[in-house]
Amino acid sequence: MSECLFCKIAAGDIPSNKLYEDPVCLAFHDIDPQAPTHFLVIPKAHLASVAEITEDNNAVAAHIFSVISKLTKELGLESYRVVSNIGEQAGQSVPHLHFHVLAGRDMTWPPG
Ligand code: AMP
Ligand code: ZN
Repeated sequence: MSECLFCKIAAGDIPSNKLYEDPVCLAFHDIDPQAPTHFLVIPKAHLASVAEITEDNNAVAAHIFSVISKLTKELGLESYRVVSNIGEQAGQSVPHLHFHVLAGRDMTWPPG
């Protein structure tokens, strides 16, 4: 989608602090980190959120989770949180599917 911030980052039209890239997804550091480690993993193809994952396209979600598992191991993270906000009330500010990976500090539950 031409006006989507994360589509532009995926295309390389807007720079990002890239951690990992493959043909399906991209991981980059969050511009406003909420923990000592805070990166995002996005599919390169636009989906608005988890709400658009279906039986037909869920391979991208499985792939992203395998990338999260690999990257966190490479970073030596034994404990971390994976979050995806869906919709305004849950705090989604960028309408392109993304998974936050946060680590490096104590975290509370329930989340705010
Ligand atoms: P959410 O609010 O769950 O939709 O998450 C969007 C995240 O994208 C926020 O944590 C922002 O700090 C982050 N963000 C926004 N713009 C950029 C950018 N240009 N590069 C990296 N992260 C960004
Ligand atoms: Zn997009």
